[in-house]
Amino acid sequence: MPKNGFRLFQVFGITVYLHWSWFLIAVYELQSRQSRYHWFGWNVAEYLSLFAIVLMHEFGHALACRSVGGKAERIVLWPLGGVAYVSPPMRPGAMLWSIVAGPLVNVILVPITLPLMWLPGHSDLNTFLWTIGYINIALLIFNMLPIYPLDGGKILWSLLWFVMGMGRSLMVASVIGMAGAGALVLAAMYFGGADQNTLWMLAIALFAAFQAFTGFKNAKIIRRRETLPRRSGVSCPACRVAPPKGPFWVCSTCHARFDAFDYPVACPGCGKPHKWNTCLDCGAKAPFSAWGVVMPPAHVVISEIGQSPS
Ligand SMILES: [Zn+2]
Ligand SMILES: [Zn+2]
Ligand SMILES: [Zn+2]
Repeated sequence: MPKNGFRLFQVFGITVYLHWSWFLIAVYELQSRQSRYHWFGWNVAEYLSLFAIVLMHEFGHALACRSVGGKAERIVLWPLGGVAYVSPPMRPGAMLWSIVAGPLVNVILVPITLPLMWLPGHSDLNTFLWTIGYINIALLIFNMLPIYPLDGGKILWSLLWFVMGMGRSLMVASVIGMAGAGALVLAAMYFGGADQNTLWMLAIALFAAFQAFTGFKNAKIIRRRETLPRRSGVSCPACRVAPPKGPFWVCSTCHARFDAFDYPVACPGCGKPHKWNTCLDCGAKAPFSAWGVVMPPAHVVISEIGQSPS
């Protein structure tokens, strides 16, 4: 992403990037809104405020993700809004909090912006304050639509995850997302006028449809893994899930595929020793002993990796 944009600033270890297309759309948007204010500077202030609100929303996601032990290092602003690149731990509660915290920022902004919307007067300042309040509420309502990948759709996913598991819940949420995005396309074409708002709506709906389809494909992969037979007696120290049985681990040196729990000491292909194992379910890394693996005695190990004892 940094290739297509440039670095704005860094705060709390989170770097904010601005996509180059933002300028293109900004110039276009500002020109088409010139008549809203007496002084052009207010147009610029309004447009920048929109992205300031979006940025606060994205920081909500990023900081919440950090607070539950996840990774969040960058936020990218682009013409359709902002994207916080977050990877929370693969638990429904951690996911839920990382998603909810974004719209929560808009909720907190409501009591601040709402009274300013109805200050007496008809000046440019009044128009500006009213628009900021309106933008905040509109962003909040739109983001809460239960259409994956919008926040509302991801909240639905996390809630379903508690009851039906990660794969199946993502499948349900992404199917609803595809249907919802389709409904948005139809609504924009049916009710929208021939103006740029309709175009924006279509662009967002098509983007959502594409993301929901990607989510659906991921859900199928997760489902396949979830239904694999599991090994008994060992479990991930982080997520407590038993590992699948089968050659799902790949040696980084010789690329041999093997079941790490059949060969907990070294790769059966090249003999490269390994001490750590990666959980296929949550991505956590932990030594085999933490998984509850009883390590074989040394002589068994040596014969297994095909080296004669010296
Ligand atoms: Zn959000
Ligand atoms: Zn795990
Ligand atoms: Zn190997």
